Amino acid sequence: MLTAFKIRIFPSAGQAEALTKAFGCARWLWNNCLAETQAVYKETGKGLSQFTLNSRLPELKKEHAWLAETHSQVLQAVSLNMSRAFINFLERRAKYPKFKSKHGKQSIQYPQGVKLKDWLHKLSRRLVDENQVIAVEDLNVKGMMANHCLSKAISDVGWSMLTSFIKYKASRAGKGFVKVNRFFPSSKICSCCMHAQASMPLNIRSWRCDKCGSLHDRDVNAAQNIRLEAQCMIAAGIAGTANRGAISQGKGRKSSVLARAVEVGSL
Ligand SMILES: [Zn+2]
Repeated sequence: MLTAFKIRIFPSAGQAEALTKAFGCARWLWNNCLAETQAVYKETGKGLSQFTLNSRLPELKKEHAWLAETHSQVLQAVSLNMSRAFINFLERRAKYPKFKSKHGKQSIQYPQGVKLKDWLHKLSRRLVDENQVIAVEDLNVKGMMANHCLSKAISDVGWSMLTSFIKYKASRAGKGFVKVNRFFPSSKICSCCMHAQASMPLNIRSWRCDKCGSLHDRDVNAAQNIRLEAQCMIAAGIAGTANRGAISQGKGRKSSVLARAVEVGSL
């Protein structure tokens, strides 16, 4: 029995708000630390240490109460990154640190042991315990998420962490782990008749197949296609089980095994 899951990690409204706040706080603090470091650099030719930057935090939190709403380790990571960036500049390994704009790439560093990680450990444990082979889509998480500020954080801490947890847990348990290429059109193919729809915009949550008339839930249908694709990959000898080594597919493989199998009529 081969079961495929398609898991999408969408932050709840509360989590999204917390992330947006954290991005804003981290950016504000970065710019504040840079301004302070810059002033010191102009006077002394030296930067500020992580310790000095951290020691400013309690006072800054008093002045700007909203700073305290973000995890203190996220703020301390900003101090660390700033002091490192300045050392790299002073030692001529990097350019002068830049001020961050609201429109640039947003990122934060969450401390180890955040709730998300625990939850991903539990989820991956359950998936591996309950299944012989787990197929995942090598998702383009960034493209999938409408909110580009959040996409980086989610793709960093969410999906890649979950798939890596599943991969090593499956490997330890001697179970299979198959990565289905992101170019496989899992959402567009009808899992009943294999007819491919011309387009499938992200806002379409359920649809009826043009050819056979089957009614599909977008995600359930995509998961069924991922399972079929994984089965084809295993049958074609492209995917091994985790304990045999050959696990995931290289990124270069763009055509789908399922699509090819359908073409030659072997399904
Ligand atoms: Zn169909």
